[in-house]
Amino acid sequence: MKNEKTEEAWKKLSDEVIAGTSAWRGKHPKAIMREIEEEGDQRLSVMRARMISDTAMKRGRAEWEAGEKEAVCPDCGGELLKNGKKKRKLKTREGEEIELEREYGICLKCGHGIFPPSMKH
Ligand SMILES: [Zn+2]
Repeated sequence: MKNEKTEEAWKKLSDEVIAGTSAWRGKHPKAIMREIEEEGDQRLSVMRARMISDTAMKRGRAEWEAGEKEAVCPDCGGELLKNGKKKRKLKTREGEEIELEREYGICLKCGHGIFPPSMKH
């Protein structure tokens, strides 16, 4: 599968991080190391969250949505019925909140609603 669109978005984001950091440095020529670090961390964490979110969204979703794989309930193994997209909030290790939009499934046997679906291989 091609990821050109995602990579393009990441490249644009990294350009923004670089340009933003460079502009910030120009405005704060006397910034101390701690301030530079904080600024850099903050800018990079935006990019980091975006990359994690994009990568996590890709996993599994494409296969299920394309109907190539059947998703099953992790509790009873029943077939999952697609129930539209829902947003899910996750926290990265750094405490950054990211939002994923994923297909949400309802189990036809036990009614358990889940995402992301576990795949039957
Ligand atoms: Zn079930």
